[in-house]
Amino acid sequence: MEHRIYKVRFYKMKKSNYLRLLKYVFFKKTKGPVQLIHFVTSKCNAKCEHCFYWKNLNKNNDLTLKEIEKITKTLPELYLLMISGGEPFIRKDLVDITYSYFKNTPMRKVTIPTNGLMTDKIKKDCVNILERCPGLELSIGISLDGPKEIHDKTRGVPGCFESAIKTFFELKKLRKNKNFKISIVSTLTPINQEKMTEFYRYVKNELEPDVFSLNLIRGSPKNPDMKKVSLHYFKEILKLESKELKNAKGFKNKIRNFIHIIRTQVIIDTIEKKKYVLPCYAALLTGVLSESGKVYPCELLTKPIADIKDFDYNFEKLWESKSAKDYSKFIINTKCFCTHECFLRVNILFNFKFLLKSFLKQLIRI
Ligand code: SF4
Ligand code: SF4
Repeated sequence: MEHRIYKVRFYKMKKSNYLRLLKYVFFKKTKGPVQLIHFVTSKCNAKCEHCFYWKNLNKNNDLTLKEIEKITKTLPELYLLMISGGEPFIRKDLVDITYSYFKNTPMRKVTIPTNGLMTDKIKKDCVNILERCPGLELSIGISLDGPKEIHDKTRGVPGCFESAIKTFFELKKLRKNKNFKISIVSTLTPINQEKMTEFYRYVKNELEPDVFSLNLIRGSPKNPDMKKVSLHYFKEILKLESKELKNAKGFKNKIRNFIHIIRTQVIIDTIEKKKYVLPCYAALLTGVLSESGKVYPCELLTKPIADIKDFDYNFEKLWESKSAKDYSKFIINTKCFCTHECFLRVNILFNFKFLLKSFLKQLIRI
């Protein structure tokens, strides 16, 4: 009975959430980020060659659940959450952390990337999250960088591929819950690039995830050579994705593919022209909370806005501080640019003029 009431309440909330999000398209004034990436732990059980966070890993400085609970009570405009790390599922209290966001913020969509090494814990946590947070859209992104030998070599863990595949098929069983989504996320590297088209077909035909995403390496990876990729292979995947756009069934899928393709095109333009394509809303609509409590505009700029502890764990106060406002002005004025997929998605979604222009361009192409 209680569950039914919750569902009805959520349905109403969902509609109003979409309407509330619309205001950020035209007004970029917020009391907190609309999208937050929270690194809940620095602990990780992999040793990836392409990891951009490698210098911060495996320290003993994670915020406690109590501290996180305080922070979540001060995020009045949060709608999209990405729980990251390290390996997020290493945290014993991951379900409680997710529930804290669910209970205290308007957030109803959470994405959790994982290397898939801890099959049982991952599945158990997903089941519990779905149970404790009715109506929450939970999306798990399993990293898979190519066939077995390539994946295990890149991740530095023998047997990593098999574990990831096992986790994938175990999680697939949860798809009977329509709020559960599972995606495969690959990172393009010099080791896998020549096999990526073939691997893309394998993922699409054999694994059939809800989404397949191909990412480019971010920041300064542990092995700097991992950044030496050819854009040619990235474009090959774009061609395959474009074909899918035509074949996608259902309005929601068409829109999702459409945004995905625009974002890929922005990445290609940014790399080829080596310059800014559209404004970045980091420190305005998006932010990053590190495991120790430092708040950054994004994952790539290394100077923090501030430490949340200095604001008594009050995100709203921090977001309205002079340092946050100056940082966002700096990002816009200097025309800061990069190819970070998560930030580009928000930059595209909340930029009406750019979205309209891209839509017209796509129509001409189709
Ligand atoms: S990329 Fe992710 S899984 Fe790999 S070492 Fe870094 S944090 Fe761990
Ligand atoms: S453009 Fe990239 S590096 Fe610059 S602020 Fe935005 S996300 Fe960060």
